[in-house]
Amino acid sequence: MPSWLVLALALVLDAVLVLAHHAPHPLAALGNWVDLTYDFGADSVHWPDADFQDFRLVSEIKDFLSVGDDQFWTESNTVCSPEHLGTHVDAPSHFAKDRWTAGNIPLSHLVAPGVKLDFSVEANADNNYAVSKERIIEWEKVHGRIPLNAVVLLYFDWERRWPSVVDMFNTPNPADNTTFKFPGLDPDAATWLVSDRSIVAVGTDTPSIDRGQETQYRSHIILYDKNVYGLEMVANLSRLPATQFDVFIAPLKLAEGSGGPVRIAAFVLKEDGADLGYTPQHGATENIVVSYASRNVANWIDLSHPLSPTIPHWPTSKPLNYTLTRVLNSPYIEYRSFCMGEHLGTHLDAARHFSKNGQSINEIPLDHLLGVPGVKFSIKDKAAEDVNSVLTVADVEEWEKRHGQVPQGAVVLLEFGWADKWDEGPEVFVGSKVPGDPESFNFPGFDKPVVDWLFRNRDVVGFGTEGLSLDAGSSTHFPAHRAIASAGLFGIENVAHLDEIPPSIVISQQLSRTYARTCLVL
Ligand SMILES: [Zn+2]
Ligand SMILES: [Zn+2]
Repeated sequence: MPSWLVLALALVLDAVLVLAHHAPHPLAALGNWVDLTYDFGADSVHWPDADFQDFRLVSEIKDFLSVGDDQFWTESNTVCSPEHLGTHVDAPSHFAKDRWTAGNIPLSHLVAPGVKLDFSVEANADNNYAVSKERIIEWEKVHGRIPLNAVVLLYFDWERRWPSVVDMFNTPNPADNTTFKFPGLDPDAATWLVSDRSIVAVGTDTPSIDRGQETQYRSHIILYDKNVYGLEMVANLSRLPATQFDVFIAPLKLAEGSGGPVRIAAFVLKEDGADLGYTPQHGATENIVVSYASRNVANWIDLSHPLSPTIPHWPTSKPLNYTLTRVLNSPYIEYRSFCMGEHLGTHLDAARHFSKNGQSINEIPLDHLLGVPGVKFSIKDKAAEDVNSVLTVADVEEWEKRHGQVPQGAVVLLEFGWADKWDEGPEVFVGSKVPGDPESFNFPGFDKPVVDWLFRNRDVVGFGTEGLSLDAGSSTHFPAHRAIASAGLFGIENVAHLDEIPPSIVISQQLSRTYARTCLVL
C-alpha cells in the first residue's frame, strides 16, 4: 500500500502563547524545517503607496459565550490587508495580464527544490547592487546548475532591517519612491533565467524583485509574463544553505489575487541524510520531496477551495470583500486590498479560537503542519442515513482493523461525501434553507469522545473536516471545537477534494502525496 502524508501550511497572525504537546516528527531524521515567513500583522511592511491600505485585525467576537447553562470562550476576527504585505507572493497576474493569479498557481510550482544565491557582501558594499547573469553563472560553477523547476532565492542580508520601513526601503523618505535604495535582479539576468533555465519562482529578502532604483519593474514583467512568480520580503534566508533544500509555498488561495499573504517553509536536508535510497533527478541538488514527486512515487492533491466573494461561510465570519481594485497600464499593474473573516474557505482553527490564551496560528510548530502523516476516515454511509452523524471511537477501531493503527502525530481527516456540495451553493453546503442561521444547519462532524480518544491514544495533532464546522451542524455547544482547542490542537475546516485521497497510513521514510493549502485563522 502506498504511503502518504498530509502537508498543511498556515499563515501567521500576531501571537502570544505557547503550545502544549509535541509528537515526534517522521521527517526529523532527514532534515529540519526553516520558516521563511514573517508574522503577518500590523507591523508588516508594505510598499509605501497611499493605495496600499494598512493591515487591520477587526475583532468580531472575543468573549465567553453562553448557550443555556454552558459557557465557553470564543475569539474570531476579520483581517483587512493589501495583497502585497509582508512576506507575500506576487502572482504573475500582478504585472502580466491574464497570467496565473495567486489562486491558480499549480501545486507543482509551489513545492520545489530551492537554491539560495548569497549576494550579501555585494549588497552591503553597494545598496543599489543588481544581480547579473554572469554572477549567477559563476555561482553555478561553485554549487552546480540551478535544478529544474527551482525556486531561486536571492539573499542580500536585508532581514536585519525588518520591520523598519525606512530601513527596508533604505531611504529617509519612504513616500518618495525615487529615493529607494535596495538591491535586486538585473533585467538581463531575469531574461536569462526564463530562457536558459527552467525555474518556477524568484524570491528575495528585499521589498521587490527589481532594485529600488528600477522604476519600470522590468524584471517583474520579464518573469511574470512567463508565469514565473515572485516572493518578496522572504524571512530567515540567512539560515539556509546554498542548496540541498525543498521549498513549500502556500499562498492564500485568492481566486483573483494579484498576490497575497503566503506561508513559506524550507525543508533542509541534514548533511548525513544523504543516503536516502533514491537517485536525484535534476542538477546537483538532492531534494527529497520533489524527487519522490518527480519519480511518480507520489503526487500532489490540493485540499483547498479557492477563495471568492460568494463561497459558503459561517454567518459570523465575514465573506471576502475587495476594498480596492487597481488596474493600471504601461506598464500593466494590477493589485487589490481585501477584508475577510479568518474562518473563511479552507482554513485552520487555532486553539485560541475556543480556548482563552490558547495557541494562536503562528505558534503552531511547522512540524505539526508539514510532512505529517494523514489518515482519512469516511463516514459516507452513515451520513447518507443521518445527516448529523458523528465519527465515533467504534468507527476508528473499525478503520484500524482494515488499515492498521493511526500513526502517531497524524492529522485525521473526516470525509462524509460533501466534496461536490461546495459548488452547489451555501444552502446545499450547510444543509439548511437558512444559511444565516447556524441552529438550522445539518451536516456530519466530530464529537468530543472521539477527539479525546484520538488525542490520548494516538497523539493526533490536528483534525480536518470537509464540512463548514468541526462539529456536526445540529450541535449548538461546539463540543468537538472545545475538545480540540483545550487539547492545544488545531482544526481544519472546509477541506476540499477528500474524495481524491486514499485512507492509507504513513511509512515514515516516505514523503508526501497530499498537500493542504490552508489559510487564515486565529
Ligand atoms: Zn508584491
Ligand atoms: Zn474555523
